[in-house]
Amino acid sequence: MKVPQFMPWIGNDEYSAIKACFDDNWITEGPRAKEFNQKLCDLIGVKYGVFAPNGTLAIYLALRALNIGPGDEVIVPDFTFIASASAVEMVGATPVFCDISVDDLQMNVTDCTRLLTPKTKAIMPVHIYGFSANMDEVIAFAKEYNLFVVEDAAQALGIKWNGKGCGSFGDVATFSFFADKTITTGEGGFVCTNSKEIHEELLYLRNQGRINRGTFVHPKIGYNFRMTDIQMAIGLSQLKKFDTIVQRKNEIFRLYKRLLSGIEDIKILTPNDKINPHIPFRVVLMTKEKSEGLMKFMGENGIETRTFFYPLHKQPCMEQFPQDHKLLKNSVYAYEHGVCLPSYVALETEQIEYVCSIIKKYYEKN
Ligand SMILES: *Cc1c(COP(=O)(O)O)cnc(C)c1O
Repeated sequence: MKVPQFMPWIGNDEYSAIKACFDDNWITEGPRAKEFNQKLCDLIGVKYGVFAPNGTLAIYLALRALNIGPGDEVIVPDFTFIASASAVEMVGATPVFCDISVDDLQMNVTDCTRLLTPKTKAIMPVHIYGFSANMDEVIAFAKEYNLFVVEDAAQALGIKWNGKGCGSFGDVATFSFFADKTITTGEGGFVCTNSKEIHEELLYLRNQGRINRGTFVHPKIGYNFRMTDIQMAIGLSQLKKFDTIVQRKNEIFRLYKRLLSGIEDIKILTPNDKINPHIPFRVVLMTKEKSEGLMKFMGENGIETRTFFYPLHKQPCMEQFPQDHKLLKNSVYAYEHGVCLPSYVALETEQIEYVCSIIKKYYEKN
């Protein structure tokens, strides 16, 4: 049996939605963007949103809207996708990395204190793997040290911390609609905020330095960060299936948990009860011994696994931003002991049973 790591769940609904754009002869950002934008704001629980071509540029826009740039520092978790940090570089600022907690892989706010300097402008909680960062701690820390909060919620659409949506805590927050995110538009991004001023700044930046299109007077410097209504049509169809996506992802998570519960050498990471709903972005496994051997065995049996994120402080491209390597241990531990299991809506129950049987076989042998 072959089990891919991921497959997007798209089909006839998305296909007819795209066709409708052609039938209406409207393909650039327009009425569907407006509708998708409002629905996203309602789902997240924020007042304002704007689109960006992808999640990376969404973070860039968010930082620019806060006027973060050269000479500024932003605290980023050491364990995240590279874009959280490269977007900081893109505005000319410096990312500084904090360690994570091994229990939930989220940023360890206690570790952030040592990173503070007069240049620190913002903290960037990244909600990883379908959990939420501890937003009580993040907000308290940001208040105490007068920092902006920029949430990278690329993996966290619809997840709530303590009853409040991920992406509604920060001064500004970002999402991605890449193919493997909870909902997809192929490529796509979203930036949201509750602040009228920040929203206005975002509008200028994304729309050639003006608030509305169709005028050629540009009060500010801005650029083009628009998407297309073709993508919005896909997004709207995906949103219609949102409840089904959440339900199926949770079923998959529970099935893995149940089938793997007897194996002592592994642990499926489980959210604490402040995270509800939890929407597993990946089902993540931590192994007692290093995970390399298990992943190799799964690969030999047709199962595509994915490693955890490689710690940012060890990334060749991040050498230009020196960090205290001795103090970033949990991210290294997570990388060496983690495995991302296949988990996506189109995954069949038989495939999950197969994956679990292979994992069991591995531990019976070793
Ligand atoms: C996917 C992702 C991004 C980047 O989004 P793109 O749309 O791929 O540019 C940023 N941060 C995190 C945590 C992500 O998972």
